[in-house]
Amino acid sequence: MCGIVGYVGKQSAAPIILEGLRRLEYRGYDSAGISVITPDGLAMRKRKGKIDEGLAKLLKVQPLAGGLGIGHTRWATHGPPSDENSHPHQDASGRIAVVHNGIIENFDRLKDRQIKAGHHFLSATDTEVLAHLIGEHYERQRAANVIPPAGIHPLAHAVMEALREVIGTYGIAVVCADYPGVIIGARRGSPLIIGVGDGENLLASDATAVAPHTRQVVYLNDYDVATLTADRFTVASLGSDTAQVQISQLEFSPEAAERGEFAHYMLKEIFEQPRTVANALRGRVDLEDGTAKFGGLNLTTAELRAIDQIVITACGTSWHAALVGEYLFEEFAHIPVEVEYASEFRYRNAPIETDTLVLAITQSGETADTLASLRETRRRGHKVLAICNVVGSTIAREADGGIYLHAGPEIGVASTKAFTSQVTALTLLALHMGRIRMLSLNRGRQILQALEAIPAQIERILGQNATIERLAKKYAGARNFFFLGRQYNFPVALEGALKLKEISYIHAEGYPAAEMKHGPIALIDDTTPSVVIIPSDAMYDKTLSNLEVVKARKGPVIAIATEGNSTLAKQVDDIIYVPATLEPLFPLLAVVPLQLLAYHIAVARGCDVDKPRNLAKSVTVE
Ligand code: GLU
Repeated sequence: MCGIVGYVGKQSAAPIILEGLRRLEYRGYDSAGISVITPDGLAMRKRKGKIDEGLAKLLKVQPLAGGLGIGHTRWATHGPPSDENSHPHQDASGRIAVVHNGIIENFDRLKDRQIKAGHHFLSATDTEVLAHLIGEHYERQRAANVIPPAGIHPLAHAVMEALREVIGTYGIAVVCADYPGVIIGARRGSPLIIGVGDGENLLASDATAVAPHTRQVVYLNDYDVATLTADRFTVASLGSDTAQVQISQLEFSPEAAERGEFAHYMLKEIFEQPRTVANALRGRVDLEDGTAKFGGLNLTTAELRAIDQIVITACGTSWHAALVGEYLFEEFAHIPVEVEYASEFRYRNAPIETDTLVLAITQSGETADTLASLRETRRRGHKVLAICNVVGSTIAREADGGIYLHAGPEIGVASTKAFTSQVTALTLLALHMGRIRMLSLNRGRQILQALEAIPAQIERILGQNATIERLAKKYAGARNFFFLGRQYNFPVALEGALKLKEISYIHAEGYPAAEMKHGPIALIDDTTPSVVIIPSDAMYDKTLSNLEVVKARKGPVIAIATEGNSTLAKQVDDIIYVPATLEPLFPLLAVVPLQLLAYHIAVARGCDVDKPRNLAKSVTVE
């Protein structure tokens, strides 16, 4: 949530920062702003609203010249979206500007103190309090002629002293009119990276913003404080004497984060799934032994064999993938699984048995609640594996091992390709755990062969895009929706409902199909469609009964069924066919038409699919 970009170098900073903010806009789009050190001093432009509607227009009429600046695209936590609450924020002197991602939890106490000392505030944000605090330390150090410790820049020193007073999370970038060649960056809990250039350096919340400029990045750690000039950067740590600095190579090209010919990132990412599922499988399929192999689990077979319980922590779409995982681990490996909302788990004192494997699932690798759960679990001495997409992300670095999705950047706020890749990775892991237990070689091979067929099967579902678009137009006026499925397809129903809610703002509920009669069926009438996932599997007759119960109450039914089931077409209002696969793999196919349905309904309703209201990608606040 929230995007930060900083640039120092020979080029004009404002256009580079603006472009970087555009690439980060999926992280927040309540407002955007830029501060640049111009020949006349520190200047700032900021505006409420999306970048192209606000800040970009402002910069056209009031451009900013200068080779150093910082920018921000906001996802409001403290104070509503407005021009005043937009970042950057300045200190009391107006010489220092700050952009911030995160929450300063003790901002009210600091603000009281500052107000008593005569400070005036222009915004309702916690960030402005931090800007004032940095300003206070800076002025105090100057007045007392304080010499910072060796190697620490005076502005970095003031930032460090201010951060020692702060409780909460932050990724920040700070500039000061007195140092027209220096940007200070710091992080705790919110991601920040340095893009290492040639005669220029960048700072950003994530790699998509620096990818067009450099392939070399440094992922900052919590408590790191970085000092950037055009020619060099240094990193100090608030927590220890030395900071660990490692330059990594970006693994994706700048084009991977572009929309190409697609109308929206979400559609592009839905269509990428044949490739992204194949990427999640690549190098991990061992047909000979009927098992999966992984490079980075960092656990021996004996350690994996000793595991007798699995706890999976996740949020949102990743939590739905985790639920599919529960069925997979139980069926393939007979291991009991608990799936936990990370936001609940982190504050519970849940007993975890000794031989428990904890899995953290997160697309971004930065999800605040999942990260906190991981840290608490590791503190208690348990191993945590991460299933995560973003290479070098905090969770990827702090986990004991894990599985990367290799799905490329996911920019659409509504997650799509990450879900199918997460389920693919979970299937492989469950298979591996099963094969070191009781799962037979033949069953292992059968699962792998079916998995390898999935990318082409998704391609075939995508071929029905135009049909699903027509269907979406028919149902776009509905005010309520149900999504129903049983067993493996219950989490898919939850995911289908979430997709529809988040981008079309239609109220939707996902339910295990058989639960309807325990209450929710009361909501069914002829204006409330139900999407029923009903593959031709062992549960077919049971699900059909649930479907009939909905029909008997005049509820319109859209069935997601297995190809070849022509009798069902006569019993339902609409039907979308997906190819046949093994029962445990059906979620990988069934979710695709649900993604397309949500997408086209949202488009038909005129919603901004890639920037749904109130949401942002990568939830780095708790
Ligand atoms: N808490 C700050 C604000 O509300 C930063 C929010 C963000 O991460 O965008 O302005």
